[in-house]
Amino acid sequence: MQRDKTEPVQVECPRCRHTEIIYIPIETMPRCPECGTEMFIKELLDEGKST
Ligand SMILES: [Zn+2]
Repeated sequence: MQRDKTEPVQVECPRCRHTEIIYIPIETMPRCPECGTEMFIKELLDEGKST
């Protein structure tokens, strides 16, 4: 059985630098609640890795 694997990522608004944490996979990129601009993935927050 396979569970849906979700990973937290930090997204940032290119206009006002508002950041949020979302979980991928996602269907569409979220829009900034402050200015409505489409946000982009800034950083993967993969803390489950133990290498
Ligand atoms: Zn914004």
